[in-house]
Amino acid sequence: MSSHQQSADVVIVGSGVMGAATAWWLTRLQPGLRVTLVESDTRYEKASSSLSASSIRQQFTCPVNIRLSQFGIAFLRDAEQHLSLPSESIALGLQEPGYLYLAQPEQVSALQTAHKIQKQAGADVALLEPEALRQRYPWLNVDDVALGSLGLSGEGWFDGPALHQAFLKKAMAQGVQRLHDRVVGLVYTTTQVTAVQLASGGTLQCGQVVNAAGPWAGEVSVMTGVHLPVVPARRTVFVLSCPEPLANCPLLIDPTGWWLRPEGRFLISGAEPLQTEPGLPLEPDWSEWNDEQWGSLAHRIPALAALRVERAWAGYYEMNTFDHNAVIGPHPELQNLYFINGFSGHGMQHAAGAGLALAEWMLHGQAQTIAVAELGFDRLVQNRPLRELHVIG
Ligand SMILES: Cc1cc2nc3c(=O)[nH]c(=O)nc-3n(C[C@H](O)[C@H](O)[C@H](O)COP(=O)(O)OP(=O)(O)OC[C@H]3O[C@@H](n4cnc5c(N)ncnc54)[C@H](O)[C@@H]3O)c2cc1C
Repeated sequence: MSSHQQSADVVIVGSGVMGAATAWWLTRLQPGLRVTLVESDTRYEKASSSLSASSIRQQFTCPVNIRLSQFGIAFLRDAEQHLSLPSESIALGLQEPGYLYLAQPEQVSALQTAHKIQKQAGADVALLEPEALRQRYPWLNVDDVALGSLGLSGEGWFDGPALHQAFLKKAMAQGVQRLHDRVVGLVYTTTQVTAVQLASGGTLQCGQVVNAAGPWAGEVSVMTGVHLPVVPARRTVFVLSCPEPLANCPLLIDPTGWWLRPEGRFLISGAEPLQTEPGLPLEPDWSEWNDEQWGSLAHRIPALAALRVERAWAGYYEMNTFDHNAVIGPHPELQNLYFINGFSGHGMQHAAGAGLALAEWMLHGQAQTIAVAELGFDRLVQNRPLRELHVIG
């Protein structure tokens, strides 16, 4: 398709899960709206949406994130109804064995504070003493654990790339166009963006623009002179095999910071990275797999003393360095420029709710179904961070 002399009501930069979900909601809420997704990598080889651990939890410390997760789990449970096409039904393989946060004595007070916030927001979570943990998970060593926090429902994992593809296909079935091109510039006045410039040489006039460029959202934002503190932060995921089955294994978060969960007949695991510069090459950092890490895993789950590392992959968190939370909504001055960025490693589970909130904001001037105003861009301008303390890895 030639990109010359084209226009759209809405141009969305990036068609990962955020761009695709926004496009789907926009055209579902307003059939006939002309929405174009511009995507430079239609194989999604580097997109976070392809490289995600695709898990969902209610255990956040910001109520707005819990609201997005509550919407997210309900949406995932009904995803087939929302997103199947006449020719293609979808299967997301949602499982809900929970997240289990483990605390050592010095972390108990923080876990209890988070628990109060979660209960107030309606999350189905429970604090468990070591003996209860032993009973529930006999393969888990809790000798040095003082307390655990378990999601009793609404937490687990699913096929994130399948969710992404389902949003994309259904959006395109609703008339959304996807253009294989790279946005290299934005044309703007003091109050609005008027067009996007494409690497192929074309220009696309637009009524509204969405920055859905994931880890590269900071680069796209700079095209309007706007600083958005979102950077590509590399994370490595290791695929392990364990000789013994770990019955009912939840997504486990160790007090030392690593996480682990089942993935089919394997386990996947990650930890806080050793190297933290933004934009590191998308290759696994094998130095993270060292004796100390192995020892820590085997301490917590003795069966893992005999584990095997099968392979590893790396992906970018779209890290909001300001407060580790999403930015959803319009720019205060360039009023037709919208953001859906900075989910800092927990966006897959929030895509359905965030896409709806943004679509409502764009069509009706505010989010209506889920209250997300506190995630707006204003907090960056006013230097009011909304810190999410439960960022994993
Ligand atoms: C290792 C890892 C584990 C994760 N685990 C979880 C988890 O357990 N649970 C969870 O909820 N989330 C998790 N996440 C986070 C989640 O995957 C992301 O929040 C989500 O996928 C972000 O989607 P996105 O659409 O914003 O970004 P992306 O999927 O990266 O999509 C952005 C797209 O924009 C395109 N693009 C960028 N710039 C341009 C341009 N100038 N022109 C055209 N196209 C452009 C890119 O090619 C890309 O396809 C994890 C992420 C990683 C990397």
